[in-house]
Amino acid sequence: MSPSVAVVGGGFGGVGTAALLRREGYEDVTVFEKADRVGGVWQRNTYPGAACDVPSHLYEFSFAPNRWSRRFAPQEEIQAYIEGVARRFGVDGKIRTGTEVTSAEWGEGSRRWRLETSAGRHEAEILVTACGQLSVPQTPPIVGLADFDGPVFHTADWDHGVELTGKRVAVIGTGCSAIQVVPAIQPQVAQVDIYQRSAGWTLPKSDFAYPEGVKRLLSRPRLRRLDRAANFTFHELAALALTRRGPLLKAFQQLGRLQIHAAIKDPELRRRVTPADEFGCKRIMLTDEWYPTLTEPNVELVSERIETVTANGIRDASGIERPADLIVLATGFASHDFVAPMEIVGAGGRSLTEEWAEVPRAYLGSSVPGFPNMFLLYGPNTNGGSGSVIYTLEAGIGHLLAALRELDRADADRIEVRPEAAAAFDRELREALAETVWHSGCTSWYVDANGNDPSQWPWLWSQYRRRTARLDPGAYALDGSVPELVEVGAP
Ligand code: NAP
Repeated sequence: MSPSVAVVGGGFGGVGTAALLRREGYEDVTVFEKADRVGGVWQRNTYPGAACDVPSHLYEFSFAPNRWSRRFAPQEEIQAYIEGVARRFGVDGKIRTGTEVTSAEWGEGSRRWRLETSAGRHEAEILVTACGQLSVPQTPPIVGLADFDGPVFHTADWDHGVELTGKRVAVIGTGCSAIQVVPAIQPQVAQVDIYQRSAGWTLPKSDFAYPEGVKRLLSRPRLRRLDRAANFTFHELAALALTRRGPLLKAFQQLGRLQIHAAIKDPELRRRVTPADEFGCKRIMLTDEWYPTLTEPNVELVSERIETVTANGIRDASGIERPADLIVLATGFASHDFVAPMEIVGAGGRSLTEEWAEVPRAYLGSSVPGFPNMFLLYGPNTNGGSGSVIYTLEAGIGHLLAALRELDRADADRIEVRPEAAAAFDRELREALAETVWHSGCTSWYVDANGNDPSQWPWLWSQYRRRTARLDPGAYALDGSVPELVEVGAP
């Protein structure tokens, strides 16, 4: 049997799924992407300075190695890579760009998912969501924002039509996006005021363009694999430190402190950029440029709370109003919404929104009881404080493939994770999460206001791959459409 598969999202997850399914012989695959090109976050985040902070040879599919220009690839190169993978694996024709899936409903009678899309109805036996965790930009509820008399845009929706030269720019937020965009625009603008709510820890990025000789060496498969393995091991050690809160975390924190001291001489500014919380509680940021940029004469770090945005600028809680010509929201994403705004309705008419009312949960981040034949990629609790999401996606796709093989083997057309298996996994997960540094007390996109954590994987990434590679006996219930043969004896 070769079931029809509908994939929602044409980023790394969707393109990777289509490529690997095709490699395994599954041809009836349709990928829906609401934007007019593939790429996901990488086609959307085009702000100046946008780049990856995971080393290039770890931030690529293991089955599609690339020749990268730098140790950490810039946005345009990653975008070109995803488009190249779609072409190279012959799946670009399976991707329907400019098509948004608004809802998906399971039909118990038809054993199919029925999708409503902006281009009409579509049916498929298997539903894969590859919507990412950082695809919906978050506009903060800051008083007066709507009254600002100038352009306001989010880093993920950068308005390239707005001229920056000589402008006074207010940047709200000091996360991974802000620390990339501010150094990139600072030389061009008249003034940048950065509004920091709470500081995050950084480490040196040590980014550099690969010299020709290094590029040649890395084009040898064995050396490239070695580079990947070394980077993977480093990230696994970091994952160990973050999840066990071991001594390595203290060493990293010391390195973060040294980075601040080396770049900033002013004790007051040093104090304000030094985080109050534990290293790794927020996502660690890699940068070579952030602190030197903060010492430039046209840059001011404002650590007073924002009181209100006015027509002409931003007034902080101490009453100082700084004029601005434009406001950049580097305020992150609605990361806990997962598949939203798409509505998914499973067996018995229960929606995923109802199922996830308290907190999104999924068995191995992949399957939800009551939602048969549905697989989530980069679903709940599959994010890490270190590591590469591409590795995680590949493991998730591996789980989907294992399920498809099992359906085929059992000659079944319905697969659903058993509630007991999902509940047991969830208990194990929540226990492990409580030990991690992400729950040591800070604000971050990992944990919600109630302390629920729908984001993080509390173990090593090699463990994720191992656990998703095959289906645990008894974890899933399979059901066949072919009625069992009953011995009725000879006529
Ligand atoms: P983020 O890390 O969630 O940072 C958002 C920033 O906005 C924080 O500094 C936050 O302050 C601030 N903020 C939010 N609401 C605010 C409000 N109402 N008033 C004032 N400040 C407010 O978002 P991001 O920088 O876009 O990064 C999100 C994730 O995207 C990253 O963690 C990373 O996983 C990914 N990313 C990756 C790369 C890469 O290089 N691969 C680059 C960019 C982003 P608090 O800290 O106080 O909450």
